Amino acid sequence: MRTACLLPILVAMCGVASAAETADLLYSGGDILTMRGATPDYVESLVVAEGKIVFAGPLAEARKLAGPDTKRIDLAGKTMLPGFIDTHGHFIYFGKNLVDANLFGCTEIADLVARMQAQADHTPADGWIVGFGYQSRGLKEGRPPTSAELDQISADRPVMVVDSSGHLGAANAAAFKAAGITAATPDPTGGMFSRGPDGRSLLGPMEETALNAVRSKRPPFTGELAAQAVTGAAKVWASHGQTTAMEAGLGLGNDDIAIVLEAIDNHLLPIDLYLAAKDSALDDTLAAAYSVASQYDPQAGGIVEKLRAARPDLDRRYVNRVRLGGVKFWLDGSLDTAWFTQPYTQNPPGKAGAFSGYRQIPDEVLDAVFEKYWPTELQIHMHMNGDAAADQALAAIDKAIRRHGMHDHRPVFVHATWLRPDQIERMKACGAIPSFLTAGIIPGGDAVVRLWGPERSAGAMASRTFLRAGLPFTYSHDAPVSPVPSILALVDAGVNRLSGSGQVVGPDERISPYDALRAVTATAAYQLKEETTKGTLEPGKLADLVILDRNPLKVEPTAIKDIVVVETIKEGRTVFTR
Ligand SMILES: [Zn+2]
Repeated sequence: MRTACLLPILVAMCGVASAAETADLLYSGGDILTMRGATPDYVESLVVAEGKIVFAGPLAEARKLAGPDTKRIDLAGKTMLPGFIDTHGHFIYFGKNLVDANLFGCTEIADLVARMQAQADHTPADGWIVGFGYQSRGLKEGRPPTSAELDQISADRPVMVVDSSGHLGAANAAAFKAAGITAATPDPTGGMFSRGPDGRSLLGPMEETALNAVRSKRPPFTGELAAQAVTGAAKVWASHGQTTAMEAGLGLGNDDIAIVLEAIDNHLLPIDLYLAAKDSALDDTLAAAYSVASQYDPQAGGIVEKLRAARPDLDRRYVNRVRLGGVKFWLDGSLDTAWFTQPYTQNPPGKAGAFSGYRQIPDEVLDAVFEKYWPTELQIHMHMNGDAAADQALAAIDKAIRRHGMHDHRPVFVHATWLRPDQIERMKACGAIPSFLTAGIIPGGDAVVRLWGPERSAGAMASRTFLRAGLPFTYSHDAPVSPVPSILALVDAGVNRLSGSGQVVGPDERISPYDALRAVTATAAYQLKEETTKGTLEPGKLADLVILDRNPLKVEPTAIKDIVVVETIKEGRTVFTR
């Protein structure tokens, strides 16, 4: 907030002339929506200097701040908002997938095999042939491919496919061999390898931690490949209006930290990247963070200017656009494996009896994590879909509060798809904030209604309930779980809640376009503890901006999805333009 207070003082001390010397950009001529407050607030103009907003208000006043070098930009009826903030995506993972075969929309296994064969042709001889994005239920066969089928792509090179949730996949025999997995390898906790009826052979498909056991053995992305992943993802994120991205599972790949260091060292990122390190990768990430900080020479200028006055560490501030903000845990599974206190209304395929999903980690692990991180700056992000997982999180938080007292920790309930009313009350008390995966409504809404039943589906992603209770919530895309990291698609889903078949899933939880936009701007900044620098258009904040061809508040709600991002600006610099 220091700059916010300093600038008016400077202007007062030195007069308007000195401010005019530094005003770089003056925007006017369109709807400029500040996103400040509970109701829409517009200003006539916005002035940017040295990457920050220095003025938001009447054009006549703004003109006094402009000098001969100020670039005056006419929005020509377009709409400006704060740059969108990604509160749960997998930026690095997505970037790596850009290098892999695209399996989204595969209709049958033959289709998947054909796409993978094309991928094999341009994969280096020593690399794994990897594809991503199919859905078993979208395949004619209704199941993942087998090892034998993947051998059609190559029998002697490792072949691996991962489904669009990122939780399920399949490998051929060469990939199992490269990963050191044999039929004698026991299933890891929280996952399973599909096996033949004799119990001895590996069939190919694998779930959750079993998939991770194979995936983690893939050769690392280095050098040019790492740079391609980062710059490729940044281009896509910026094209959807995002000025802050998230990698919410740093360490899912064993090369993730190396990729991030590559991005820092080579200044590859045009937008900010918030990292939440996967539990087991946190110590390595912290070690890397401190080594990054110590490598910077205070005399060398550049980034050091920003670090000089502070403790130079990646877990407190952005270093070349990268910040370690949190640690990530998975408490349950996805749509088919969410952990509930009550059984599924209709069992997912292959599940018998009173199935109520999977717990991923023991209570003791989560308790220990809160014991360690509750009083620190690192936020704890917890993946949860079912209410039993939310119970586990709340119990761990209660213990931490009893031991250490209340802290402004803002635990992130990732997805938090189904919460009971008593849990929402408890979240209020401990400051926990959900990041609802509204992107999941279109592809998964119908399945949620069927599998979870009417009560749980109607109350899923309870935006209106949170709003009524005066509680913060955000929206996220979880890309590449949703194939495109589109923020406007999240806003559309929060406003309309239309499933793939066109049914409104939980009509009472629909909210206004303005409230949905708050979930991806002001509240998103608050969730990540960046509200002093981001999320609204106010003097002192970063000039992180997005320009849309139309105003989401002035189109038919069903047309929000068709609004186009025209330009994305990070700290006064255009990072995407259409
Ligand atoms: Zn995720």
